[in-house]
Amino acid sequence: MNLQAAEQLLQTTYGFDAFRGQQANAIDAVLSGRDALVLMPTGGGKSLCYQIPAQLRAGTGIVISPLIALMQDQVMALRELGINAAYLNSTLSMEEQRQVTQQFAAGQLQMLYVAPERLLQPKTLAYLSQQPISVIAVDEAHCVSQWGHDFRQDYLGLGVLKQHFPNTPLMALTATADQRTQTEIEQRLQLQDPVRLDASFDRPNLQYHVSVRQDARKQLIKFLARHKQEAGIVYCLSRKKVESTAEWLVSRGINALPYHAGLPAQLRQTHQQRFLREDDVVIVATVAFGMGIDKPDVRFVFHMDLPKSLEAYYQETGRAGRDGEPAEVHMVYGLQDVVRLNQMLNESQMEEQQKQVERHKLNALLGWCEITHCRRQGLLNYFEEQAPTFCGNCDVCISPPQTREATVEAQKFLSTVYRTGQRFGTAHIVDVLRGLDTEKIQQHQHKQLSTYAIGADVSASHWQSIARQLIVQGYLSNDFERYGALTLTDNSRALLRSEKDFHYREQLAEPAERKKKASRNGVSEQDRSLWEALRECRKQLANEHDLAPYMIFHDATLMQMMEERPETLDSLSFVHGVGASKLDKYGEAFLEVIGAHA
Ligand code: ADP
Ligand code: ZN
Repeated sequence: MNLQAAEQLLQTTYGFDAFRGQQANAIDAVLSGRDALVLMPTGGGKSLCYQIPAQLRAGTGIVISPLIALMQDQVMALRELGINAAYLNSTLSMEEQRQVTQQFAAGQLQMLYVAPERLLQPKTLAYLSQQPISVIAVDEAHCVSQWGHDFRQDYLGLGVLKQHFPNTPLMALTATADQRTQTEIEQRLQLQDPVRLDASFDRPNLQYHVSVRQDARKQLIKFLARHKQEAGIVYCLSRKKVESTAEWLVSRGINALPYHAGLPAQLRQTHQQRFLREDDVVIVATVAFGMGIDKPDVRFVFHMDLPKSLEAYYQETGRAGRDGEPAEVHMVYGLQDVVRLNQMLNESQMEEQQKQVERHKLNALLGWCEITHCRRQGLLNYFEEQAPTFCGNCDVCISPPQTREATVEAQKFLSTVYRTGQRFGTAHIVDVLRGLDTEKIQQHQHKQLSTYAIGADVSASHWQSIARQLIVQGYLSNDFERYGALTLTDNSRALLRSEKDFHYREQLAEPAERKKKASRNGVSEQDRSLWEALRECRKQLANEHDLAPYMIFHDATLMQMMEERPETLDSLSFVHGVGASKLDKYGEAFLEVIGAHA
């Protein structure tokens, strides 16, 4: 059908030149009345897939999203584009709700965002059925899956949609890659012979870095120095650490705010809102923060602790760089994290089988951390996607780690594990190797061991790193039932008998100097003042209209204005991201700024 009309809308309303990836196919599917399952990474452009058909087909487009706190922003961003949208959720007053339902009944709404629990009320279903519906989009569709990682009870009920709206195209959208979740979405939502569209899960604009934790705060502050005045997320495992880290950052002059499930709802809401609305807030958070945060200009994600799986890591880092501009993601981790995560697992209510799955996922993540080839390739392979062996935009590609043979060191470590009875964790084994005189060593008479102090010339952190890599390479296993006691494996016996060699990855204390600029601050001095002025203009307009700066224009749009310096409304209209409605509202203001810098 009418892809031409869709393309036209893309240009005039959104100010974009062309569809990306599978967008055109997804839109085409809905325009021809079919159901669709759309899998796209974060930032891939899922929203256009339903927004455009909603404008082209007769009736109102319904969007179901679990994130009521964000609906208002989404609706405001649409109104900025000149699209008549509204939302229905528990935050509206009775009067506001009445207005929305009236507008809907009068056929005035192009799009209506609804929370699932609201949608499923019989009353809501009844009056929605009275009017033509152009498309129903279920956003964050993986929430319907019990296998997925964000299951929501409310979503289960969405299976009834097909019965109430048998002739309306139903579109499920998610950024979750795995096959089992996809199948579950399809079944639970009762999609009818859906068009399945999946895009590559690669996020080429994200630069991946992983390093061993030494002094996490120092590592963090060094990282933040490369991201001055930028918005980003710092993830910590515990609430306590969230608070202390945020406090500490504030004391260092950084605009940081804490966020975790233990804070009062009102405060959480305020912090989230400030993160969305201001353009240089660093949010320090537990994983409670983030789902559905569609702030496009998050420039970095920093992990102070190991996440629980590669899936989780992919999701959490995926919140950076949705606008396609360069963004940097960095994780620091240590072996204590693994012990800790396993302890949490053991104490959780999960079934034993599920725990096994989680343990396996954690080990896969650990292996990925110490990878010796392209990190991006490793990540994509984990999601069963082929990828080239060199990406040029991860720590391993940028500064390849050195490996060297370290069989003798490995043997020293393994025999110490053996001689101490396979009952101790890394810390104690390292103490023995280094010949310390601790209470534990005295208590167990470990000074008498033949391996006592044979590694005194090597630093403790080096021994720890050897331990980690022995684990990753399968020469040692971490007995989590016994709080991290190291035990030998079949492989380790072969290594002890010198039937195998051990190759060690040299640890880069900190990644070597970045060869490629990971931030987009590559603005020349001469342009800098125009850039600042454009940002200032955007900020003022945002304040005046009570919007987030990115809702006025994205960074990429300001960037292009800076480079091309358009002088007329007509030439401004060719800038990426400048659609008719925004040209009309804000064009003059930006032309004035550009004129003043001519
Ligand atoms: P998702 O929901 O998949 O994470 P969004 O729909 O929020 O992604 O889109 C991510 C960003 O990409 C948004 O800022 C959007 O404006 C932009 N975008 C989407 N489609 C296009 C396109 N065809 N051309 C240019 N920019 C686009
Ligand atoms: Zn790479």
